[in-house]
Amino acid sequence: MQKENIQGLRQYLLEPRNIVVTNHVNPDGDAMGSALAMQMLLSKQGHSASVIVPNDYPHFLKWLPSKKDVIVFENEKDKSESLIHTSDLVIVLDYNALHRSGPMQSTLEVFTGKFLMIDHHQQPGEFAEWIISDTTKCSTAQMVYEFAEQFGLLSFMDTAIAENLYTGIVTDTGSFRFSSTTATTHKITAHLLELGVKPDSVYNNIFDANSVSRFKLLGCMLENMKVFQSKHSVILYLSEEDQAKHNFRKGDSEGFVNYGLSIEGITFAVFIREEKGFCKISLRSKGDLDVNQISRQNFNGGGHKNAAGGLVEKPLVEVIKIAESVIGVL
Ligand code: 5GP
Ligand code: MN
Repeated sequence: MQKENIQGLRQYLLEPRNIVVTNHVNPDGDAMGSALAMQMLLSKQGHSASVIVPNDYPHFLKWLPSKKDVIVFENEKDKSESLIHTSDLVIVLDYNALHRSGPMQSTLEVFTGKFLMIDHHQQPGEFAEWIISDTTKCSTAQMVYEFAEQFGLLSFMDTAIAENLYTGIVTDTGSFRFSSTTATTHKITAHLLELGVKPDSVYNNIFDANSVSRFKLLGCMLENMKVFQSKHSVILYLSEEDQAKHNFRKGDSEGFVNYGLSIEGITFAVFIREEKGFCKISLRSKGDLDVNQISRQNFNGGGHKNAAGGLVEKPLVEVIKIAESVIGVL
């Protein structure tokens, strides 16, 4: 952000404001951790801040500390719209284009107040008064920490805020293993531990909360796996039927795509999950293959160079064919 804009935002936040903190549809650990931490920091600074998420978030994130109840737009549309329309500032976290807010998009498009965006995805939109965008950052949570540092809010950090930020960092870095993990990430994390975060307990809450049916669903996906050894690629998928058979719950397939990349020699993994009338796609790569571009060109999506997602309104068999043709030309 430009120096004068930082000054402007600092000035703006000197007065108590009505603020709505939002994140992207199907919120993940980074989206939720960033939003809850931001709400708590702003409340401590004297603002009135609420978190409104587009749709519900997975059960393994429900333990995250929160100051107020998280409002789910899809479930409480009237309340959400009135909060948004009476707010001074909407903060957009972990997304950078209004369509990524799913069911909230049309409400946010007619919002006449100010937007602040803090995000680490590529190609940010230009709708916000203040944009903090950096694709080199491992997580939006790290950016929220750095925002707190830059805006003099670090003294407000407590264990609850630290747990939220730690969750964002640990989930978006694949437990500190992705190449976006830097020395700064670890220094920030060290401070979060000093503030009282217990890594084993966070890990237990997020990653050791598997149900038996989720594990069987994973087995089913691995059984379905198509391997393209010479192309260093795999396609993983779950049909609607597979999911019904294993009592699929929101978030159950979170992280499944990474199993593809854990195979020796595999550098490109596609995961396709079928829903009624469309398929949700997750793409992961290692090294130079830019899955953000692949997703933009083939799957109506986007994301980062090594992790992207998309959505195609076609049945599973057709989406598998698209993925096969993408792999075919690698
Ligand atoms: P995931 O595969 O975990 O759902 O998403 C991987 C990354 O791609 C995330 O950073 C996410 O924000 C982004 N992403 C996922 N789905 C979509 C989509 O439909 N459109 C865009 N533009 N980005 C997506
Ligand atoms: Mn993120």
